[in-house]
Amino acid sequence: MSTKPIIVMKFGGSSVANIDRIKAVAQRVVNAKTSKTNVAVVVSALGDTTDELEAMAFQIMKEPPDREMDMLMSTGEQISCALLAIAIRALGREAISLTGAQVGIKTTKSHTKARIETIDNKRILKAFDAGQIVIVAGFQGVTEENDITTLGRGGSDLTAVALAKTLKAQVCEIYTDVNGIYTTDPRIETNAKKIKAITFDEMLEMASLGAQVMQARSIEVAKRFNIPIHVRSSFSKEEGTMIIKETDKLENIAVRGVTCNKSEAKITIDAVPDKPGVAAKIFTELATAGISVDTIVQNVSHTKHTDISFTVSKNDLSKAIAIAEKVAKKIQAGAVSSDKNIARVSIVGSGMRSHHGIAAQMFETLAKNKVNINMISTSEISISCIIDQKSTDKAVKALHSAFKLDTLS
Ligand code: ADP
Ligand code: ASP
Ligand code: MG
Repeated sequence: MSTKPIIVMKFGGSSVANIDRIKAVAQRVVNAKTSKTNVAVVVSALGDTTDELEAMAFQIMKEPPDREMDMLMSTGEQISCALLAIAIRALGREAISLTGAQVGIKTTKSHTKARIETIDNKRILKAFDAGQIVIVAGFQGVTEENDITTLGRGGSDLTAVALAKTLKAQVCEIYTDVNGIYTTDPRIETNAKKIKAITFDEMLEMASLGAQVMQARSIEVAKRFNIPIHVRSSFSKEEGTMIIKETDKLENIAVRGVTCNKSEAKITIDAVPDKPGVAAKIFTELATAGISVDTIVQNVSHTKHTDISFTVSKNDLSKAIAIAEKVAKKIQAGAVSSDKNIARVSIVGSGMRSHHGIAAQMFETLAKNKVNINMISTSEISISCIIDQKSTDKAVKALHSAFKLDTLS
C-alpha cells in the first residue's frame, strides 16, 4: 500500500461556483499531485446550490422531513465532485469521485446534523494505489441503514478535517473565497486584517459566534486530534492562516477578532413566578424538543415575579414559542413575546484571560456609538452582546477599531 504523504484540499462553494472555476480548481489539484504525494479533495456544492435546494423544499412545506432534506441537500455535492473528477480527467490525469457513502463515512441518524462515527479509508487508499486523485463529496455521510445524512451547514469543512485525521494527512488545506481568517468578516469591515496564526480555541469561539468561514464542529475535531488547518484563497497562491494549537506570541493578544451573528431570535416570558424549579421547567422542555438555548437573562424580581429572556436559533423560533407558551400557562406566568430583529456581536481572544477592562471597553465603545445592549454573555475567551440587528455593522466596525485590530500586523 502507498506510503506517500497525503494532502487533503477542500474547496468551498464559491471556489467551484461555475465551470471555469471548477477547471481552475482541477488545475490546482493536478499541480499538487506530484509523484511523491497523494491528494484527497473535498468539495462543496456549486455556489449557492444548497440554499437553492433548501428553498425548493420550503416552497412545498414549512417543515419538510429531515430525512428527505438530507436526500435533497446531499445531491449538490454529488454534482460538484463528479464535475471536478471530469475536469481532472480532461487534463489527462487519473481521478475518481466518491460520495460519502462510497467513502464509508458512517454517521449517527440525526438527519441534517449527523455526527461522523467512523470513516473506512480502504476505498480511498485503493484509489491512491491506482494513482488516482480522490474527490470526495463533502457535507454527507450514511447511517448503518444506508440512509444519507448531512453534517450541518458548512459541513464540508468537517468532512475535510475528518478525512485528514483518518488518512493521517500531512496537511489539511481549506480553500475559500478569502485569503484566510481575518480579524472580522472582510465583507463588513474592509480594514479587517488577515491573521497569520490563530489557536483552535479562538477559531472555535469565532466560528461558534458567527464567523462562517469555518464550521465550528470541524474545529472541534481539529482541536481534539490536533490537526493543523491552513485556510487560504482558491484564487491566489498567497499563504493564508494557520489554525494551530498554540504559540507564545498568541498569548499576549487580548482581542483577536470581532464576530457577529444574525441567526438568533429572542424570546421573553413575562411575570414568571420567582420560585425554585421554574427555570428548570422551561429549559427542560426546550431541551427535550432538541432546541439549543443560548444567552439567558433573568431580571431582578420585585413582586415575586420576574421576566426571563433567552435566545434560540431563528430556525427553532416557532417551535420554541409554542413550548414557551405551553410552559408559561402551566407555571402561571404572563405573556410570551419574541424578537427576530436582534444580532449578537462578540469579541474573541485567548489573551482575555489575563487582560482586565476588556468588557468595560466593549460596553463603552457600544455606548459611544449609541448601540443599546439587550443582553450580555461571556465565556473565558469571549464577550457577546445582543443588540438591535440594524446596528450590527456599526457595532462590528466600532469594536474592530476600538481594539485596534485594523493596525495588527
Ligand atoms: P466556502 O464557500 O468556501 O465554504 P464560506 O462562505 O462558508 O466559504 O466562508 C467564507 C466567508 O466567510 C467569507 O467570504 C467571509 O465573508 C466570511 N467570514 C466571516 N467572518 C470571517 C473572518 N473572520 N475571516 C474570514 N472570512 C470571514
Ligand atoms: N454545501 C453545504 C452548505 O452550503 C456544505 C458546505 O458548503 O460546507 O452548507
Ligand atoms: Mg463554508
